[in-house]
Amino acid sequence: KIKAGLTRTKENISNIGHSFDQLFAGELDDDFYDELEETLILSDMGVETAMKAVEELRRRAKAEKIKNAEEGRECLRAILTEFLEVGDLSLKLDTKPSVALFIGVNGVGKTTTIGKLSAHLKGEGRRVLMAAADTFRAAAADQLEIWSQRCGVDIVRQHEGADPAAVVFDALSAAKARGTDVVLVDTAGRLHNKQNLMNELNKISRILDRELPGADRETLLVLDATTGQNGLIQAKQFKEAAGITGIVLTKLDGSAKGGIVIAIAQELGVPVKFIGVGEGIDDLMPFEPAEFVKAFV
Ligand code: GDP
Repeated sequence: KIKAGLTRTKENISNIGHSFDQLFAGELDDDFYDELEETLILSDMGVETAMKAVEELRRRAKAEKIKNAEEGRECLRAILTEFLEVGDLSLKLDTKPSVALFIGVNGVGKTTTIGKLSAHLKGEGRRVLMAAADTFRAAAADQLEIWSQRCGVDIVRQHEGADPAAVVFDALSAAKARGTDVVLVDTAGRLHNKQNLMNELNKISRILDRELPGADRETLLVLDATTGQNGLIQAKQFKEAAGITGIVLTKLDGSAKGGIVIAIAQELGVPVKFIGVGEGIDDLMPFEPAEFVKAFV
């Protein structure tokens, strides 16, 4: 599936630049490095990260006396894989119950991701509960409820405009009473202004600290890969406002160019933990850097 998702990425890249296959057919000369840098930038990796990758490849190729393009390709793969390994890639949700908060702007795929992740966790034999703490729009809770029915997991919601922290409080009470393993919280955590976001998350945090001291907690920023470098600017603002523990990158099956994954990990220093490769319930995958890089370069 990751291959299918990235096929589009590869097409996008070869439409605008040199394909990696063409590039790695020749010599590792100055032209090669220039064309590689250009191709990486066109793949949405961003100028800074692309330059860093090329510099590192030059350095290692010299140190390890790599002349052959195929070896060069393996070396680039190793470098990009290292760029992606910026933290723990798995979700740390071991205490019972543990909590994952989802933040991100409207339309990036938050609700869908919570639905897919519920199914994924349920498949691992874990008991999941959804908390509809995005009380800003009634439609958000309705959407989440549809996913809860589709996955066969419980949901806690209140009326539109309710206090998000109160929804979380209710969800935690229900989770404790029902022996839930993981509570997935859909927040309205979007960035109309940084202070609002911080206030909302701080209030939820205080409830969690009080009701579930010492519990594992993930704060996952959901990003739409098709927004490319613009999404990255937005992600930096989120990172300043909230203690993000991981990224879920959605819509990698769309018009996204895979380099954005590497740019996000490098420039934010936060690991991409899951990727979305479609709208279906099975279209969420734990992110595996080496596998991704091999499909990409
Ligand atoms: P939210 O506003 O952040 O909760 O976003 P939604 O979960 O409602 O998703 C917005 C749209 O993006 C919906 O039409 C989803 O089906 C679609 N979507 C979400 N994730 C993916 C993905 O990985 N790939 C594709 N192609 N579409 C996705």
